[in-house]
Amino acid sequence: MKARQYPPKVVKRIWKYVKKYGYVCHYTGMDLDMEDPHSPWFCVFDHWAPHDPRKIVITSALINGMKTDLSEEEFWWIVDALTNFKRYQIPLRKRKLRYWDHKYTFDEPGTAVETTIFPTRGTGTCDICGKRLKSKMFTYCPVCAIMARRLKSDGRHFSPQAVEDLINYIRRFGYFCFFTKMRLDMKDPTSPWYCVINHWRPGTSKIVITFALLGVMKLDLTEEEFWYYVEALADYKEKGKKIFKRRPVCWNRRYPIEEELKGYDPNNLNFETIDI
Ligand SMILES: [Zn+2]
Repeated sequence: MKARQYPPKVVKRIWKYVKKYGYVCHYTGMDLDMEDPHSPWFCVFDHWAPHDPRKIVITSALINGMKTDLSEEEFWWIVDALTNFKRYQIPLRKRKLRYWDHKYTFDEPGTAVETTIFPTRGTGTCDICGKRLKSKMFTYCPVCAIMARRLKSDGRHFSPQAVEDLINYIRRFGYFCFFTKMRLDMKDPTSPWYCVINHWRPGTSKIVITFALLGVMKLDLTEEEFWYYVEALADYKEKGKKIFKRRPVCWNRRYPIEEELKGYDPNNLNFETIDI
């Protein structure tokens, strides 16, 4: 807290919380790991309202990642909406998110004009979505032309088979989220509902499309783990059901604790000189 230069009021509030509840997550009541920065349950600080330094709470690296740039109210809203889709197939409805400020970007390939992946020019229909085109000169409709460029731009990370499978998915279903079936925003890269390309499971080649917010919330979780935590969060919120910790199999993050402890030797902390 000292390294982060939190104002005295904020620090006082955090200590009050810890004295009352212990080192448990503000959002979920889960016990936090105070030792291992590799742990998904490692204790981290979280801006209760994104970018607002006045209220800081403690949570785990995992929940902090899932909450991303959402307010607490927005976070529980999306958890609830995702759970309702998963359990009852209630369609997810888009809404404005107050603090969302991600912008999806991709590198334009060097020569942007000739960016056909499977060129079949001259059919009069878009090669990906099958929409009728204004001219037989084109291969893709405007939306798919951008998608083709993105796939090509990020192509060095994707296998040709993975790209082809994704294009087949789009041909079959259109631009709908792989996880939630929601129609994706194809226009505004700053929207939380903007179509992004996501690795279905960390470390494997399969790619899917989803919306920017879900792409962030999913972290390094597998699809199955993601739904487990979404539903567990909803059950905690609604019924107070304790969340059982399941260690994500591909979790490979480490909290950079050294930055906060710079200047202090963690094995030889002189607590008397740290004003807590
Ligand atoms: Zn198209």
